[in-house]
Amino acid sequence: MNIFKALIGEHWKESSSGQTFPSSNPFNQEVWASIPSLTKEDVAEAVEAAHLAFRDWKKTNGLERATLMHRLADLIEAEADHLARTETTDNGKLFKETKNQVLFSARNYRYFAGYADKLLGDFVPLDNREMIDYTVMEPIGPIALITAWNSPLSLLANKLAPALATGNTVVIKPSEQASISTLEFAKLAIQAGFPPGVINVVTGDGAAGDALIRHPLIAKVSFTGGSQTARLITKAVSDKLIPVTLELGGKSPNIIFADADLEEALTGAIAGIFGAAGQTCIAGSRLLVERSIVEVVKERLIQKAATIKLGDPFDPATDMGPVANKLQLEKIVSMIAEAKEEGAELLYGGEIAKDVGLHGYFIKPTIFFTERAELNIACEEVFGPVLTIIPFDNPEEALSIANHSPYGLAAGIWTRDIKKAHRVAAEIEAGNVWINTYRASAAGAPFGGTKQSGYGRERSWHALYEYTHIKNVMVNLSTKKRDPFSMQTK
Ligand code: NDP
Repeated sequence: MNIFKALIGEHWKESSSGQTFPSSNPFNQEVWASIPSLTKEDVAEAVEAAHLAFRDWKKTNGLERATLMHRLADLIEAEADHLARTETTDNGKLFKETKNQVLFSARNYRYFAGYADKLLGDFVPLDNREMIDYTVMEPIGPIALITAWNSPLSLLANKLAPALATGNTVVIKPSEQASISTLEFAKLAIQAGFPPGVINVVTGDGAAGDALIRHPLIAKVSFTGGSQTARLITKAVSDKLIPVTLELGGKSPNIIFADADLEEALTGAIAGIFGAAGQTCIAGSRLLVERSIVEVVKERLIQKAATIKLGDPFDPATDMGPVANKLQLEKIVSMIAEAKEEGAELLYGGEIAKDVGLHGYFIKPTIFFTERAELNIACEEVFGPVLTIIPFDNPEEALSIANHSPYGLAAGIWTRDIKKAHRVAAEIEAGNVWINTYRASAAGAPFGGTKQSGYGRERSWHALYEYTHIKNVMVNLSTKKRDPFSMQTK
């Protein structure tokens, strides 16, 4: 059994209550680690450490922060195997995927390190030529970073890299379902030389997250998780009136037009929903297919699904690992049962895979077909390997189905017609649109949702504005007397 501790200031700490919770490997259900379940007082200690560290950290120059961030990226790359191994053991995601994500997180730290000494302000020309005006990007203060279990390190990098580059200190709360890669990562942050208190990690369940966001010294919350928790969080901090960034779920439409390169589109459909066993916020879980090709798409997807190899997430030959935990398994099974009851046609899968020869939480790749886009299985996020195919007759109908969703995170468009691709992209209500690809990411490309998929942007220079206040400074150079009873606008 591996015993882990939380990082508060410069100390690795157990819970002051002595309470711990176990982490079990979803592939074989082995309990392999114990994690402290922090109390409200422990969480407060972490926030105070971040608050104290903020006083000096916010005054560091950009080059100092960039140097530490590059050092951190070096260490992440050097320890990529270890970090990925830890994450895969914790959440069951394929090792080749977690390794890729760990390396991508290093890329994100480097990307934002590049901005740390380039937080430019504006010089603003005023109507009044006897005044000068400039702006400054200032850090916000101790920020709570809350992440989901599906990709802890990659989700964290989206938040932590811009937060550090802009001079904020943070308290991180990973999910109790997958906390360990974040704790291992924090060791590297200390090794890189970040001063004590700049990065803190608290562990525990939702109550620890709640204590964190409510703490009076937390000046902002950046959250990745489900819409329901997001509502609790925004309500909980509403009295404090602090800014919140929300990266939430989705029910993303992946639209295949009849003129698409079918082979590429089918690969994109598989990547969209069976990659990471569908446990991604951007899962292309609604496959909208032009009616003239719907039969061939169904047939080819069934063939492809039948070749997907379920198994050990560490085996390079495995295509799909287990889902991350028992709760998740039960949720997916119940949504599949409900889809059958509400009349969706099951084309493939739809059950737990008992023939994998393991005791893990395996769901067969599952494909439904329905004409009724309003069914729950076609509207609600499953967060598992469950695809719903819906036919459409023309681009207008495709858009109407695509946009008839409370979510607006991502969308895919498959067509060889460049005009149609851009016209549809312009009308889609989603923060991220892919044309002739799906589930592709880049440090420089902004990422985030619309509608109930959240607000705010991660990655790219846009994220710098999520972690800064803009201060405007106006300077009077005039020697003339002013009228004190009238606002000076000229
Ligand atoms: P949850 O919303 O259940 O949890 C997310 C995080 O919030 C966890 O760390 C959780 O801790 C914590 N938390 C729970 N309750 C509270 C609370 N009251 N106050 C503060 N923090 C709290 O989401 P899941 O972990 O189940 O993740 C799945 C969801 O995340 C899906 O909807 C998915 O689409 C979304 N997601 C969005 C992404 C995006 O970038 N848009 C990316 C990845 C996932 P604990 O787990 O310990 O309870």
